[in-house]
Amino acid sequence: MSQFDNHYLCPKCGHVDELHPNNLICEICDFNPCFVAKHINEGDRKWWIRIEEDGGKWRRKKNLSSKLKKHLPEDKNLVKEFQKIVGELFGYLDQNKENMDSIFPKWTRDYSRTTGKRTQQGWKEKRSAKKVKQSSVRGKLYEGAFNEAIKQNEQFEQIFTPISYSYNGKEFEFEPDAWLWLENSQIPVEFKTFEEGKMVPNKFNRGLKQSRKYAKHSKLLGKNPKEYSALIICCPEERKFASALIDNRIEKIL
Ligand SMILES: [Zn+2]
Repeated sequence: MSQFDNHYLCPKCGHVDELHPNNLICEICDFNPCFVAKHINEGDRKWWIRIEEDGGKWRRKKNLSSKLKKHLPEDKNLVKEFQKIVGELFGYLDQNKENMDSIFPKWTRDYSRTTGKRTQQGWKEKRSAKKVKQSSVRGKLYEGAFNEAIKQNEQFEQIFTPISYSYNGKEFEFEPDAWLWLENSQIPVEFKTFEEGKMVPNKFNRGLKQSRKYAKHSKLLGKNPKEYSALIICCPEERKFASALIDNRIEKIL
């Protein structure tokens, strides 16, 4: 199947079907607008399924939290609760090693064909086209798996489409990977995968900065007064994950 077959992908219910000529409305759940869909290469997908089947258990790395330790939020219980929730997400992946064929998505969003111009927001890539392609397949598959894992915990809320709002007469748009409700705060979550050997402290700042941008946006939306944000990172090939709940105390070291 060509990756350019004409299909749409519903971000809400996951339905994929033939593109309608004049609209992007989901035939199953009426969500509007859906995305033009791009097929994920089967060979690439199988490669990552095998990584999960053959890989060991996910292990928490402390290198992110030790980098940040003096600058974490003052509410230690909240930090602890967050770390426990993240541990459960990776526990879900451990329990479902044999089911990754149904957990990894088969389709992804084609941003440029959906809008004619919009590019995916987030971190800019400066690497070779081949590396970018490998890393983008990995990111899309694990982002899909992350979306399945968060469905197991009702403190998470999925985000289906970019969030637009206006403030002081200006328009803003942002799209975290999910919301996490902790102590009445709606906290934006950024999820990011790393290639083998790259999940090291000097690579963490970009993700932390991205996470702080989401924190500022969500504060303006009004449900995150303490300006918290969350970052969850992992390296599937090395079976490592790490996470941090942060607030503006972190900004002096970024
Ligand atoms: Zn739908």
